[in-house]
Amino acid sequence: MGKRNKSGGRILKLLAKVTTPARVRIPPEVANDSLRITPELLAHTLEGLKTRSAGYRESGAIWTGHVSGTTSLVQDVHFYHDLCDDKGRALSLELSEEAKYKLYQQLADREQVLVGMIHTHPESWVDLSWVDRENQLCSRIGFWSLVVPYYGKRSWCIGTTGVHIRTDSGWHWFNKGEASKRIISE
Ligand SMILES: [Zn+2]
Repeated sequence: MGKRNKSGGRILKLLAKVTTPARVRIPPEVANDSLRITPELLAHTLEGLKTRSAGYRESGAIWTGHVSGTTSLVQDVHFYHDLCDDKGRALSLELSEEAKYKLYQQLADREQVLVGMIHTHPESWVDLSWVDRENQLCSRIGFWSLVVPYYGKRSWCIGTTGVHIRTDSGWHWFNKGEASKRIISE
């Protein structure tokens, strides 16, 4: 869910710079967390988001797999638009209750858990919107939420991707340096 841009792209870019957390204390309960995904699955995810966004609307996907200690391992990707009519718009996206139920059933069958989610925003702003924060797909500490800028049109760059993790008091946004250490694709 993107932030409505009333002031033009330049202001939004400035805001993105100003609000990127440079020296925010990392909550101890996620101090050592990392997410692992193969380059192939990451590429498949990004391609699927880019194609679905098609340069004009948000798209999203859910990563499922296993969590072992502080390591989240992605094994499968589920695109919102494959699970339901995602009602993708310029600044919004939906995952129906029916789709969530279908997904939970698949998880049970595969003996997997929700690892994280990833969705696109229209421009460089990759913080979580109020709606993103309130999304109750998973409230487990250590659940990931990534935001890809420019509807996924640009090449993957961890430095411009919003990397957020659920803590016991809401969401923590990792700065670029931390994000590059925690999202491991190799
Ligand atoms: Zn969003």
